[in-house]
Amino acid sequence: MFRFFLILFIPLTLFSSQIKNFRWSDGDTYLTFLEKLHLPSKALFYNLDADDQKLTEEIRSGVNCQILESPKKEIQQILIPINDDLQIHIAKNKNDLAFEVIPIIHETKKESFTIVIESSPYNDIIRVTKSKKLAKIFVAAFKNSLNFKNVHKGDKLVMVYDRMYRLGQPFSMPTLNVCMMQIGDKAHYVYRFKEDQYFDEKGAELEVFLLAAPVRNARISSVFTMMRWHPILHKFRAHLGVDYGARPGTPILAAGNGTVSFCGVTNGYGNLTKVSHVGGYVTLYAHQKAYARGIHKGSVVKQGQVIGYVGTSGLSTGPHLHFGLYKDGRAINPQSVVRVAASNLAGKEKKAFDRMRASLNKIVNQELKKASLPKTFVQLDPVCHADVNGKPKESAQKSNNTSDDDSDD
Ligand SMILES: [Zn+2]
Repeated sequence: MFRFFLILFIPLTLFSSQIKNFRWSDGDTYLTFLEKLHLPSKALFYNLDADDQKLTEEIRSGVNCQILESPKKEIQQILIPINDDLQIHIAKNKNDLAFEVIPIIHETKKESFTIVIESSPYNDIIRVTKSKKLAKIFVAAFKNSLNFKNVHKGDKLVMVYDRMYRLGQPFSMPTLNVCMMQIGDKAHYVYRFKEDQYFDEKGAELEVFLLAAPVRNARISSVFTMMRWHPILHKFRAHLGVDYGARPGTPILAAGNGTVSFCGVTNGYGNLTKVSHVGGYVTLYAHQKAYARGIHKGSVVKQGQVIGYVGTSGLSTGPHLHFGLYKDGRAINPQSVVRVAASNLAGKEKKAFDRMRASLNKIVNQELKKASLPKTFVQLDPVCHADVNGKPKESAQKSNNTSDDDSDD
C-alpha cells in the first residue's frame, strides 16, 4: 500500500516543493553523476542487483530529470527516467538514500496543428512548435515519398500525433498518426498503422527496416519487456532487449547495414557494440567475449557481417547475447520489427486501415479549416526577471529554445 501512496505522492511533492529540473548531460554515466553530486555509489550502485545496475546504463542523454531539495539544500529525491514507463527514484529514507525503480506517471494527449510554409517544413515546425522532435518525425515520415525541394512558401502541412506528458512537460518521442503535406493543389499523406509502420493513402508501406537475427541457430532465453512487476522480488523490472543463449565464441552478426557508434566496455553490458542504422534505428550487442577484428567506432558494417563473439562479460549469468533495438532513442521490441519486405495492406487489414484513414482525414480537414496554432512549451527560467524598465523579458523568443525533453540532436 505504501508504494502506491508514494507513487501518487511524488508528483504532488514535486509541484509544491523546490524542484530543480536538469537534463542528463551527454557522456554522463550514472556513476559519474553520483560522483558529481557526492552521492554514495556503494548504496546507490554497487549494492544493487545486476538487473538494477544494468538499467542505469539505459539512461538517455538529454532526458529531463528532477531533484527535490530541502530548504537546507539537502537532496530529498531524484527522478531519472529510463524509458517511457520506468524511472529511477532515489529517495531519502531516514538518513540514507535508497534506490528503487518505479513507474512513470504520464498522460497522452492527442494534438494536431497546421502550418503555412515560410521557409521549409523542418524549420517552420521548429519555429512554431519549438520541437525538433516533431520536425524530425514529419520529415522522416515523408523521406521515401516526397521531395521537399518541391515545397514552396504558402504550401501547408498538417500533423496529427499523440504526445506524452510527464510532470506537465512533453516527454519522450511523440507518435505520429497522420501527416499531410499540401504542395500546390496536391495533398500527400503518410499514416502510421500497426506498430510504427508508415503507409501512404493506398496502404502501401513506405519504410522498411530490415533486421536479421544477430546470432544463427540460437534460442531466445529472455524476451523483451518494457515494464513488469516482479512478484517475488517486489520490484519493477524491464528487459529492454532479447537474450539469445549461445556458446561462448559464437559469431555475432550485424542485424542491418550501419555504422558502429559505440564499441567499448561498460559496467553492466560488458563489452558492448552499438550500430546506427538509417531511420533513427540503433542496435545494441552486449556481454560480448570479444569484438571482431577491425570493428571500432566509425566502422561501416554490412548486414550479416561478424562484429563480435558471444560471451558473458559485464553483469551476466551465462554466455548469451543481449540484443537491443532502439528507434529515436526508445527501446523497442526487436522481435516486432523483423520483417523481410515492404507490404501492401490487403483484406481485413486494408479495411481497418481505410477506416482509420477516413477518421484521420476528418481531423486533417478540420485542422485545415481552423488552421490552429500548435501548442508550444517554453522552458521558463525559475526566477522571474525584469529589465530596467520593469518590462518582463520575453524568454519565449529564444530561437534555440525547444520544448523537447531529450536533446537528441
Ligand atoms: Zn538481456
